[in-house]
Amino acid sequence: MSDRDYLVRATALDEKVRAFALNATEVVSTLQRRHDTFPAVTAALGRTAMGALLMSAASLKEAHQLVSVEVRGGGPVGRILVTANGQGEVRGLVSNPHVHAESVRPGKLNVAGVVGTDGYLSVTKNLGMRDTYQGTVELQSGEIGDDLAYYFVRSEQTPSAVGIGVFVQPDGSVEAAGGYMIQLLPGLEDDEIALIEERVAALPHPTALLREGLTPEQILDRIFPEGYTLGDHQPVRFHCPCSRERFEQAIVSLGEAEIQRIIEEEEQEYTEVVCHFCNEAYHFTAGDMQQILDAAR
Ligand SMILES: [Zn+2]
Repeated sequence: MSDRDYLVRATALDEKVRAFALNATEVVSTLQRRHDTFPAVTAALGRTAMGALLMSAASLKEAHQLVSVEVRGGGPVGRILVTANGQGEVRGLVSNPHVHAESVRPGKLNVAGVVGTDGYLSVTKNLGMRDTYQGTVELQSGEIGDDLAYYFVRSEQTPSAVGIGVFVQPDGSVEAAGGYMIQLLPGLEDDEIALIEERVAALPHPTALLREGLTPEQILDRIFPEGYTLGDHQPVRFHCPCSRERFEQAIVSLGEAEIQRIIEEEEQEYTEVVCHFCNEAYHFTAGDMQQILDAAR
């Protein structure tokens, strides 16, 4: 885990504004390496992952609760699916990691070009005890940040500004990833709203701030120079809860006849099961399969 990667919660203007900022460089870097994503896909997956982390910070109370964000925009990347839990752990996947989109502006990754703009962003919150909430909005820009902001207004009636970015180096590795989210709560005066909007609009791109060396707290200093109340500090990291035991359970659920068929028909030395969220491969030989079958009987 990187000490640099964390998220902070804060309030400002007499608690009429909720603010969140994070550095998730190592998280997005791990997603890039695990899925071998091309640059624009790295940015799309990374922004979605940070969106899920910000959303979990804004709405989850318990460590085990989950937020999933799914984006399907009709673009070449296919589907993006990310899940974050209440303790800052996130994982994610894309259908097609190896796609490009021509840059519209030099030096700027064309995220909407790989995501597409004709589709939706869907959020599922799993709060435990079968308490599930789901909200879906049509994609507005395919750039993810704006789409998340639109989701907050439409589905949660909370006007929000979301500024998240991923800076990818020429060799495809991630140099910086992070950003902020500002939520306006009821009770703000029009001039207070205008002031916040002005400051957010005047901010450099979030990755420019991170590359200058700013911490999440220092990003909030730029937005609230008159001060804010800092809440908790949460480390964030890539984490996939998959394990060999979980895949054994999945094999058991195939049923006896199917397991028997795999044991008899598998021509390879082993059956390989790959976790789509982290690309970890688990190998099961015919002997392993037989053991699983015997144990389940
Ligand atoms: Zn996994």
